Parts: sequence; structure tokens; C-alpha cells
Amino acid sequence: MLIVAAFIKKKHNLHEQIVKSTFAHMSIKVKNAVKLYGTQRALNDVSFSISSGEVVGFLGPNGAGKSTMMKIITCYLAKTSGDVNVCGYSVDDDPIEVKRRVGYLPETNPLYLDMYIVEFLRFIAGINKTPKSRVEDMIELTGLGPERKKKIGQLSKGYRQRVGLAQALIHDPEVLILDEPTTGLDPNQLVEIRGLIKELGKEKTVMLSTHIMQEVEMLCDRVIIINKGTILTDQPADALRSASQSKAVLVRFSGAINTSAIRKINGIIRVKKMEQGILVESEKHIDLSRVLFEFAVNNKLSIDESRPYELGLEEVFRNLTNK
Ligand code: ADP
Ligand code: MG
Repeated sequence: MLIVAAFIKKKHNLHEQIVKSTFAHMSIKVKNAVKLYGTQRALNDVSFSISSGEVVGFLGPNGAGKSTMMKIITCYLAKTSGDVNVCGYSVDDDPIEVKRRVGYLPETNPLYLDMYIVEFLRFIAGINKTPKSRVEDMIELTGLGPERKKKIGQLSKGYRQRVGLAQALIHDPEVLILDEPTTGLDPNQLVEIRGLIKELGKEKTVMLSTHIMQEVEMLCDRVIIINKGTILTDQPADALRSASQSKAVLVRFSGAINTSAIRKINGIIRVKKMEQGILVESEKHIDLSRVLFEFAVNNKLSIDESRPYELGLEEVFRNLTNK
């Protein structure tokens, strides 16, 4: 009996070793993930991996499948098919091990508004079987100190996000999954929460969803773009921008112009009236300042203002999907 038990234990240890060595540097591995809601395909054969220590932006418009993917990785939702592993553990076979290694800030950041911050974090520590002493560390880490006496319901959205981050971090997970952590924050809160995420990224593997390109550039090493449940691209953040085949300026003329006349100029891709002026997008090699100057002269106008316009996610998307 003892021998059998020893043999089983040895076999188990061997299995553990194989699991650990195979996935030692891989934090998240998703292979052919499919999620159907009824007949709708929210995820359509999604595959990617994230190495230990990486900070990856998961970028896509509303309804792309970001939250669905994150819920599957964190074991909050069952996939229809495919394989998902976190730190070598399968979400199907070892959900408890997965949850131990993952900290999750859901999109809705559900909090108990009637609880005091400390009370709530102690409650979460209890659920995670984490020493209560971690609560004070988390309050310090996430900068909740000045508000610590308040009930969660009395906090601003920025401070609620800090509480959300504190609960995600309390069991010191290796991997952080943050679902649109900055949506709905005012500009000051945005800067603070981004700063906090940047700090956390030095220690942890982070997967962060957003629809803001600028945020990805600020925080992430790599970008995965998803649209309609399908991965469009997966590459380093700087490569994505330089892969863009166009550039743009925002220009204001001294008088009214006919936008379709600009559109007809060779190399101009798009002309759009915006609140701050006219957005003119051209192929990369075009000398846009010269083209617009000539256009102004020909129309007896001058240029009041012209400045480079950062092409946002929408443009990167368009370029990617038009290929
Ligand atoms: P994202 O987070 O990128 O905005 P979601 O993962 O929330 O996208 O949603 C992906 C798609 O799946 C959307 O079309 C959405 O309407 C649909 N969806 C999400 N959750 C459900 C659900 N519980 N039941 C049915 N459809 C859903
Ligand atoms: Mg979402």
C-alpha cells in the first residue's frame, strides 16, 4: 500500500515537474479558444501566449470579445472549446491553481458599496486565505491611505479602481488581468491609475484591455488587437505604429473649403471635418504641408493652423482591416 502511494506521489511530482518546466516562462497560453453565446461567436479560434513579465495590451472596439476572453482566462466563464493555460495550469482541470495565480479587475469592478475599504479588503483576504496583514500592504501599495476611513460608496471612481486593484493583488498573484481599468476616469485619475499599472508591470505579468491606443503605447510592450472575436494582429507596440501606412494633419484654413476637392488630390486617403479643424490623411510618403499649402494658395486662402494628428485606434484598425 505504502509503495503504491509512494509511486503515485512520485508520478505526481514528475507530472508537476513536467508541467512547470514546459510552461516555466509562459504565463498565459490560449490555443484555439472559441466561445459561443447561443449561435453568436464571441471568440473565433483565438490563440496567443504571454510570457512571464510581459505587459500586453488587449485592444479592440466594443463587442470585440475582450471581456469574454478575460473571463475565460480567470475561470469566470467556460469556453466552448480550445485550451487555456495560466502558469501551466489548465482552466478546465486546475481552476483553483489558476485563480491562485491570477488577479482580476473586472470591467464593472463590482464592489460592496456599504463596506469600509479595510473591511472589504479583509473580507477578500479571508476568501483568498491570505494573511490579513496583507490588507495594510495593499492600502499602502495602491495609495488608498488618505481615504482609508471611508466606505467604498463614498469614493470617487479613481479610488474605487484602486480598491479593485488592491483586491486583485491581495494574494500576490503572478498574473494581473485588468479589464478596461481606466475607462470612465477623469484626466487626473487616469494619470494616477496608469502610473500605478506601470509600477505593477515591473513585477507582474499584465494583460490589460482598452480601446485607447495611447494607453497601450504608454504601458505595454506588446499589442494584441482583436475585432469581432478574431485576432487581427499581435506585435510589439512600436512596430504597430510604424506599420501604419498613412499619416495625418489637422488643418484650419482661413475660409470655407470644399473637402471633396482635397480628397481628389493624389495620395490623399481621407478628409474629415472635425470640431478642431479638418483631418487630412495621406499616404506616408506625401509631403502633406506642401500639398495643403498649394491647395490653400490655389483657393486664395491661407492656413491658420496645421498640426500633426496622431492616428488613433480607428485608423490603425482601418489600415489593418483594409489590407
Ligand atoms: P468587449 O469586452 O470587447 O466589449 P465582450 O467580450 O463583452 O466584448 O462581448 C463580445 C460579444 O459577445 C459581443 O457581441 C457581446 O454582445 C456578446 N456577449 C457578451 N456577453 C454575452 C452574454 N452573456 N450573452 C450573450 N452575448 C454576449
Ligand atoms: Mg468588455
